[in-house]
Amino acid sequence: MKILVINAGSSSLKYQLIDLDHSSVIAKGICERIGIPGSMISYKSAKGDKYEKQQDMKNHEDAIAMVLEVLADPEIGVIKNMSEIDAVGHRVLHGGEKLYDPILIDDEVLKAIEDCIPLGPLHNPANLMGIRGCMAVMPGVPMVAVFDTGWGMAMEKSHYMYALPYEAYENYKVRRYGFHGTSHRYVTGRALELLGNPNAKVITCHLGNGSSVSCSKAGKCVDTSMGLTPLEGLPMGTRCGDMDPAIVTYLMERLNLDKKGIDNYLNKKSGVLGISGVSSDFRDLEEAANNGNERAQLALDTFCYKVKKYIGAYAAALGGVDAIVFTAGVGENDRGVREKVLSGLEYLGVDVDFDFNNSCPRGEEVEISKPTSRVKVFVIPTDEEMMIARDTAALTAK
Ligand code: ADP
Repeated sequence: MKILVINAGSSSLKYQLIDLDHSSVIAKGICERIGIPGSMISYKSAKGDKYEKQQDMKNHEDAIAMVLEVLADPEIGVIKNMSEIDAVGHRVLHGGEKLYDPILIDDEVLKAIEDCIPLGPLHNPANLMGIRGCMAVMPGVPMVAVFDTGWGMAMEKSHYMYALPYEAYENYKVRRYGFHGTSHRYVTGRALELLGNPNAKVITCHLGNGSSVSCSKAGKCVDTSMGLTPLEGLPMGTRCGDMDPAIVTYLMERLNLDKKGIDNYLNKKSGVLGISGVSSDFRDLEEAANNGNERAQLALDTFCYKVKKYIGAYAAALGGVDAIVFTAGVGENDRGVREKVLSGLEYLGVDVDFDFNNSCPRGEEVEISKPTSRVKVFVIPTDEEMMIARDTAALTAK
C-alpha cells in the first residue's frame, strides 16, 4: 500500500509518500511560501533524485497538485500516476475531546475539526486547508486525520483537570490535552516491542524544538507535560514552559504588553533562547557553553533539570518505570543533554553506560543503559509519518 502523508502549515506543506509493504519512504519534500510570492517545492526520492523549483502556489490545492506532479514526473518521479496512491493521512493538531482516534475524514469530521479551531487557532485552519486541497485534487481517495492530541485523551480526569472553576472546563474546554501524541505513541510502541512487554511502564522524552515528556502504562498515556496549548511543561527552544501564572499579568503590566505581546513573549522569546540570549538551537547552546558562555550553560542546565524533574514525577505517577526513551532532534542527538538528565537517577534503577551514550551511532535505535540496568534507557528516532501512514492504512485497507 502507498500512503501519502501530509503535514500542512499555514504557508507550508510537508509530504511523504510511504510504501507500507516495505515500511519505507519512497519520496518526501516540502512546499514553502504557499500563497506568498516566491513559493517553492522541494523533493527528494529514495533513489537519490532531488528537485527544487520556484513555482507559483496560490493555495494548498495548488501545492498538492504540484506534489502529485513531481511524484509522477516521468524522469524523477516514483509513481506512474495518482491512482497508485491508496490513501492520504493528514496530521491534525487539535481534535478536542471528540476526536482522538485516527478517523476517516467526511463532512462531519471536517466540521468537528473546524469546531476545534478555538483550541488550535494557528494549526487547525492550516490542517483543514491541507485536507480540503487534497480532496479537491484527489477526489475519491480516502483520507484519514491523525490527531496530535489523541494520545493524551487516555488520561484520567484527575490528571487532565486544571484547578480552575469547573465552568472553565465545562464551558470553554480548558483542560490538559497534550501534544506530540503521534511521536509519543510511536516511540512507546517501539519501546514495548524492544522490552518484549506490552504492559510496561514507559516514560518518553520528546526533546526537539518543541519538547514534552509523557508517561504510559501498557501503551496508554497516563500523563503528558503539555497542556491546553503546547506552552506548558518543559522549557523549549523559545517557549517558557511551566511557570507561576501570575507572571503573565505582572509582566503585562511591567512591560506594557497587550494580549498579543505577552503571547509572543512567552512563545517566541522565552525558553532556552530567552535564558541564553544565544539561540534556540541546542547545537549553538552546546558550542557557546563549551566556549564559556555562562547563560548558554544555564539554559542547558535549566532544561535538563526540568526533564529530570518530570521523569521523577512520572515515575511516581506510574508507580515505577521499566523504560525511559529519548527522541526528537535534541533527544536523539544531544548526548550532553541525555547525560545530564540521566545522571543521578540511579535511585530509580537507571544504570546508564555513559561511554556508550557518548559514542553510540546517531539515527538508530540504541539501548544506552547497561545490560544489568533495571530500567532500560533507549534512544529511538521518532517517525510520526510512519505512524500516520500505518493508522491510515488500518482504516482504509480494503
Ligand atoms: P521540531 O520540534 O521542530 O520537530 P526537531 O525534533 O527536529 O524539532 O528538533 C530540532 C532541534 O534539535 C534543533 O533546534 C536543535 O536544537 C536540535 N538538534 C538537532 N541536531 C542536534 C545535534 N546534533 N546536537 C544537539 N541538538 C541538535
